Amino acid sequence: MRIFDPHIHMTSRTTDDYEAMYAAGVRAVTEPAFWLGQPRSSAASFYDYFDGLLGWERFRAAQFGIRHHCTIALNPKEANDPRCTEVLDVLPRYLAKDGVVAVGEVGFDSMTDAEEKAFVRQLELAGEHDLPVLVHTPHRDKVEGTRRTLELVAASGLPPERVLVDHLNEVTVDLVAESGCWLGFSIYPDTKMDEQRMVRILADHGLDRMIVNSAADWGRSDPLKTAKTGQAMRDAGFGEDDVDRVLWRNPVAFYGQSRRLLLDPIDVDQTETFEGNSVLRGQRPA
Ligand SMILES: [Zn+2]
Repeated sequence: MRIFDPHIHMTSRTTDDYEAMYAAGVRAVTEPAFWLGQPRSSAASFYDYFDGLLGWERFRAAQFGIRHHCTIALNPKEANDPRCTEVLDVLPRYLAKDGVVAVGEVGFDSMTDAEEKAFVRQLELAGEHDLPVLVHTPHRDKVEGTRRTLELVAASGLPPERVLVDHLNEVTVDLVAESGCWLGFSIYPDTKMDEQRMVRILADHGLDRMIVNSAADWGRSDPLKTAKTGQAMRDAGFGEDDVDRVLWRNPVAFYGQSRRLLLDPIDVDQTETFEGNSVLRGQRPA
């Protein structure tokens, strides 16, 4: 089983996770830019974060045989903080960089006017930079948030196949399927969507434009949920080609629209040091 985890926040995970992910078949990931956890004191803290996603985290993943890409954006939660919004003016500098495969994650958290303003501006930026968009849907008011999301996407003029609407479940899957956007599902350990429910959705709706991720971060989450969903698919009678389509070919097709994916295997013995820092050497998998 080869796996592309299209939504995982590796900055908040350990090297043990990288080793376990590699052993389970993960060979590539996309890490969306998200919130800090605590309030940022200024927009400048985004620049170090974005540079870290593009440099250090990409290097760290490579040492474990995993190709790392990222998406860059002002996330919905921090769009509500006036200290953060000036980052919107600096995003174009980052969206031009090679490791950035989409604008994201954007969208709604609490459905505020500030969130909508940042979302609309970033849909414009995606058009200007010819990049796909990763859209977060709120965990509360999910149907209303998804409906408004799809209205704004339609109004932006972006082709729906350039947009991935994430964190879906049984109540939002039809709305997004009808829109023509890609459908993202985050599989969590004990809340929201799990792998058994995911398999039922795949059985009912088919595999077209379906994308599964772990959305693992610093909260209770599991970076192996992609692999566990693949196993649940097999147990339910899906074939290897079906599993490969959902866990590899679909996310590759979506992010491949950036023309920036790097997917050739990594020879971990050949990985370079990062600005002279080789602290991880000797800890990579055998
Ligand atoms: Zn996320």
